[in-house]
Amino acid sequence: MNETSEHTDLNRREFLTRSAATAGVALAPGVMLYSVAQARPADEPVSSAVRWGLLIDTNKCASGCSDCVSACERENGWGTGSTDESHSDATQKAQWIRKVEVKNTETGHAFTLPMMCQHCENPPCADVCPTGASFRRDDGIVLVDKHICIGCRYCMMACPYKARSFVHETLSDQKPYAPRGKGTVESCTLCVHRVDAGDSPACVEACTAENHNAMLFGDLNDPASPIAKTVATYATTQIRADLNLNPGVRYQGI
Ligand code: SF4
Ligand code: SF4
Repeated sequence: MNETSEHTDLNRREFLTRSAATAGVALAPGVMLYSVAQARPADEPVSSAVRWGLLIDTNKCASGCSDCVSACERENGWGTGSTDESHSDATQKAQWIRKVEVKNTETGHAFTLPMMCQHCENPPCADVCPTGASFRRDDGIVLVDKHICIGCRYCMMACPYKARSFVHETLSDQKPYAPRGKGTVESCTLCVHRVDAGDSPACVEACTAENHNAMLFGDLNDPASPIAKTVATYATTQIRADLNLNPGVRYQGI
């Protein structure tokens, strides 16, 4: 896995944050910014009418690029985004998202893709959790409640995507919207704090800002959304579809 440090274009993020709550913002004549999420009022419950998902086009995912990883680290305060993790060895470091290099040994076709929690509809991590700390929201986002996680790591063993990490360090520099704690398990939150505010995940924003456009975020249940239209039009893949977990993260080009 290669990682690079790129700085998020804050002006662009601020623009998108303000714009995302408004459907169909005109960027230029004939060019519209499609609103991927509506800011959800705090007193409005999460609805199963929505299924948040990610579509990753491996044809556009650049080998050697880790902008999505760097953006996640900065946004959520893990890895290079955390000064407290400096003592961890490579096997202990948090890994909410990682770049994976893949090669088909029969065809020779090689490609790269980002791998994070797949936000399974039927998440085995939640099935095995003895306290209910691992849970799936009605809108498809799988989370860990750090207050009741006892650090048994059953969920890490149950996850077929190796998407979860255990926090080994005492942490002091956490983001208020992404609490972390020594002795608990963590994984990609689909940037739930941003999604609930009507914004896109940080990895998607970084990928788009670099003009790779390999990551598409949106509501899989909304037939008018770009992600649902693309899934309906083109062949897409669920990694380990044979497990019938129905991930919310889908891939193209593999
Ligand atoms: S990818 Fe792993 S951690 Fe994420 S929902 Fe599925 S089983 Fe749980
Ligand atoms: S959605 Fe957010 S938490 Fe998940 S990999 Fe992307 S940046 Fe990280």
